[in-house]
Amino acid sequence: MKSLTILGSTGSIGTQALDVAKLCGFRIKALTANSRTDIIERQIREFAPEKVALADEKAAADLKVRVSDTATKVLSGREGVNECAFCGSDTVLNSIVGIAGLEPTLCAIKAGSKIALANKETLVAGGKLVIDTARENKVDILPVDSEHSAIFQSLQGCRDRKQIKKLILTASGGPFFGKTPEELETVTLEQALNHPNWSMGAKITVDSATMMNKGLELIEAAWLFDMSPDYIDIVVHRQSVVHSLVEYIDNSVIAQLGVPDMRIPIQYALTYPDRCVSSVRELKLWEYGTLTFEQPDYETFKCLKYAGEALRRGGVYPAALNAANEKANELFRNGKIRFTDIPYAVGASLEKTRNTGSYTFEDITETDKCVRSETEDLFA
Ligand code: NDP
Ligand code: MG
Repeated sequence: MKSLTILGSTGSIGTQALDVAKLCGFRIKALTANSRTDIIERQIREFAPEKVALADEKAAADLKVRVSDTATKVLSGREGVNECAFCGSDTVLNSIVGIAGLEPTLCAIKAGSKIALANKETLVAGGKLVIDTARENKVDILPVDSEHSAIFQSLQGCRDRKQIKKLILTASGGPFFGKTPEELETVTLEQALNHPNWSMGAKITVDSATMMNKGLELIEAAWLFDMSPDYIDIVVHRQSVVHSLVEYIDNSVIAQLGVPDMRIPIQYALTYPDRCVSSVRELKLWEYGTLTFEQPDYETFKCLKYAGEALRRGGVYPAALNAANEKANELFRNGKIRFTDIPYAVGASLEKTRNTGSYTFEDITETDKCVRSETEDLFA
């Protein structure tokens, strides 16, 4: 039985990954979360992992008491999460939200575990470092993000990468596609959290509404598939049925389709190169009737444009963009700023001079810290 560790097991992806793990017969070695003790306690009782870690120290102390009747060891803090990541599972699925996932990803790579990556901020902020570390340790990074899984699946059978012309990422457009910049000024958090096709954690749902999510995915795709942004297109596809496509030099285009359900890409990352029966319903194309495709609106959804710019500048620019977005997204969710302040903050993060050359883990964390504080100051 293959072993699996899930980082961020209490979240939207984490809980679905546990469903898939149960269906496909994985043994759960370790689980981590931030502070939601109720959910992780239930998971400990059901899956009996060797260890768990909560990043929040107080929550970890509480959990320790609650599960003292089990054999599971409870760890705490960043070190605890890193220790779980480094536990030597066959596969580590990272579904932590935000930059907090970067260090655990590096730990899991160094332990030689195969990585199933949902935590896109890891590749946005630490792209070169993560890819280089994976290469040095001969570790595969398998995408969980549905678009990247679709591209990965559409690349199966491609024997020479010179035959790839471009990657085409689909975007749902989120709840506000078609709105004018003026209309975006007054949108509420409740409206932003109402995604038309997907049920996800709050941070990524707001990222989808600003279309920053697609910007982050552009950077993620560039690193995962070693493609220049000039060869990655974005097309708005409202129904989220075609999950992304690969265009080859003969102008043949291969796509992966399915109902919008993350358990399909999660499962492919866990079972690759095999496939196994899924609990997700079949795609019945006639239920959709029409599939539509449109150009993105880069002027109304500026985050998309800024992400391309950060990727082209290179160095720590994407880390700066990610930090500004994480902070502004959080301030918006806490009712402190308006929706349109998010692209404003992201744009501002690109204005200061930042390093465009090579970088270390410390450069990334320093940039992250500094940009978060600059973003907070913007609205003080
Ligand atoms: P959720 O907010 O639902 O879950 C996040 C998880 O991370 C929770 O387990 C949470 O613990 C944990 N966590 C939060 N902060 C920390 C921290 N500082 N240290 C350690 N753990 C922490 O997010 P999602 O599942 O929606 O998304 C997870 C990742 O997957 C994101 O990067 C997202 O972009 C990506 N993704 C998500 C998709 C989706 O459908 N949801 C689709 C594609 C990608 P706790 O519950 O205790 O707070
Ligand atoms: Mg996605």
